[in-house]
Amino acid sequence: MAGKRKKYTKDFLKKRNIIIATSLVMILFFSIVIGVSGLHKEPVQKKIPVFPDYSKITVKAPVVKEKLLTQNVNSRPGIALKKVNGVVIHYTANPGTDAMANRNYFESRKKRKDSKENKVSSNYIIGLDGTIIRCVPDTEIAYASNQRNADTLSIECCHPDKSGKFSTATYQSLIHLVAYLCDRYEISLSQIIRHYDITGKNCPKYYVENENAWKQLKQDIVSYLKRSMNNKNTKDTM
Ligand SMILES: [Zn+2]
Repeated sequence: MAGKRKKYTKDFLKKRNIIIATSLVMILFFSIVIGVSGLHKEPVQKKIPVFPDYSKITVKAPVVKEKLLTQNVNSRPGIALKKVNGVVIHYTANPGTDAMANRNYFESRKKRKDSKENKVSSNYIIGLDGTIIRCVPDTEIAYASNQRNADTLSIECCHPDKSGKFSTATYQSLIHLVAYLCDRYEISLSQIIRHYDITGKNCPKYYVENENAWKQLKQDIVSYLKRSMNNKNTKDTM
């Protein structure tokens, strides 16, 4: 009995050891498989922002051209702008046209009769490639922003299509120009406004219809302005 029992125990131990060994091998195998497949996992895709982060772009001065309008009653009346309290952003509402074409349109108003309908202009126009044209000096009023013509500077922005969204180049120059004007004339951020904020007109279209895009634009101006304050070169560019 004792010998049989001993043999039975030996067999049992042998079987048990095989089961344990097999289990360990399997655990080891599955651990390796899981580990290796984990290594090949695709990294989690980061959410792509709608706009580039302008707080990180290199401060680069846009091209600025002085193409002043001839003094005339309709687009450059020569009335003094005594104080700059704000900046008003517009869109040209003429897809695909560039800054110079819009500037020449303002200039053509000088041939028209003196009437309210013919009074149209802007202090600045930003082209599709980001070129800034100044057509009415900062010291004179332009006819763009209705009841705020007398105490604001106006910026017309060109746009490639009907949506009214600005090209990246136009957008960057706009940020630079607004930041420059805010710094120079100590304009408060609440006075960076749209034509829409004055009259309710759908201008600048894309940034009226997409409130988030407008918020982002203002945020980008603030970020850029903060950086520009630490970069003396920016102040010397215009
Ligand atoms: Zn407008």
